[in-house]
Amino acid sequence: ANDIQAVIDADRAHVWHHLIQHKPFEAIDPRIMVEGRGMRVWDATGKEHLDAVSGGVWTVNVGYGRESIANAVRDQLIKMNYFANSAGSIPGALFAKKLIEKMPGMSRVYYSNSGSEANEKAFKMIRQISHRHHGGKKYKILYRDRDYHGTTLAALSAGGQPQRVEQYGPLAPGFVMVPHCLEYRSQYPDAESYGEAAANAIEEVILREGPDTVGGLCLEPITAGGGVITPPAGYWERVQEICRKYNILLHIDEVVCGVGRTGAWFGYQHYGIKPDFVTMAKGVASGYAAISCTVTTEAVFEQFKDDAGDPMSYFRDISTFGGCAAGPAAALENMRIIEDEKLIDNTQAMGHRLFDNLLALQEKHAVIGEVRGKGLFVGAELVEDRHSRTPAEEKRVQAVVADCMAQGVIIGATNRSLPGFNNTLCLSPALIATASDIDQITDSIDQALTRVFG
Ligand code: PMP
Repeated sequence: ANDIQAVIDADRAHVWHHLIQHKPFEAIDPRIMVEGRGMRVWDATGKEHLDAVSGGVWTVNVGYGRESIANAVRDQLIKMNYFANSAGSIPGALFAKKLIEKMPGMSRVYYSNSGSEANEKAFKMIRQISHRHHGGKKYKILYRDRDYHGTTLAALSAGGQPQRVEQYGPLAPGFVMVPHCLEYRSQYPDAESYGEAAANAIEEVILREGPDTVGGLCLEPITAGGGVITPPAGYWERVQEICRKYNILLHIDEVVCGVGRTGAWFGYQHYGIKPDFVTMAKGVASGYAAISCTVTTEAVFEQFKDDAGDPMSYFRDISTFGGCAAGPAAALENMRIIEDEKLIDNTQAMGHRLFDNLLALQEKHAVIGEVRGKGLFVGAELVEDRHSRTPAEEKRVQAVVADCMAQGVIIGATNRSLPGFNNTLCLSPALIATASDIDQITDSIDQALTRVFG
């Protein structure tokens, strides 16, 4: 007990946590998690929690305490821990091959360490293509209101959550916002054609900016932290058409949705999209090692060849730790687990159960305005009144999260810095969730809603 007190003291004195004002995690003090097994974690006071958010931010997709992943990383580190990113490693080659097998149409994998970095790499490739093939003119990158792409300055410049970037300006130039596609708040009279209209709003921005200046469009397949926004019917078909029409490279950010989370290997695969770039991080190695990937097509790769046919010479800045072998070693074993344990099937089945349980709660609690999501990535938007759809007060949404926390169930709520969009409960349990885990999660929400909203 003394040892843990020394840790807590050191944490309080010296660690600069971000989201320090993040109430749900403040509810457990100290916020240090000491142990994890399967779906559950134990904090520094010894309290057990059922984790309905996979490590807080949709990351630990295959659950805690996976010895086989730890062993794969250990064995690789002892054999060969690191050699330059421009060289290669056995797990790096094998994981790239396995990943590409899950992504028909894609061909090349660039490794780095975080989702932000993977997105930056795609942005930089779009800029390089502009310089190499369009005289530097096709440099603009479109991003969508409510989407999030990372914490670096360029990724924040492509972030549709403006409150996150206060005090960081000036931001990087050349990033332009397009409207979100949240049907529930669209006030569009004709729901049938909203999908097409929301996509057409992107075209309007392209025409306003000038198609010759727009090189890329970066979108989350389902907006995650910005509100669990599933795209309306017909949206993606039209987005794809628009990209083709104006020769705009389509970049899908799968940092949250990727590697099984939505009940498919990748979120975009539900919608028949053919992206030019796909980025992924969190669930790639479920938090057992740092790894991210920028995946692209052979057609993009071809555009980087020089006269001698060498495509490498145009990557002038190299991420040192993209050469770490621990990441792909963990990612390979992570993928084996998802396949052997049939976790994508489980995600579909348990995702339906979670969704249906929440729909049942919606019958009982008028405060649940809408349930949305796919697979084990589900949101329940809370409203003061179903007719006006006035967002539930942030204080009360956070009280629901805190109440669940007190019951030993960790749930999330969408980004707190977004007025009007910080009222969605967010559930993303690990892909190994059982029926009783799902029922425990929704039972705790049921009780919390009764206590907070009556
Ligand atoms: N893209 C999305 C959709 C994300 O949710 C996040 C992280 N929350 C990122 C990118 C950035 O990833 P990282 O924190 O690993 O840099």
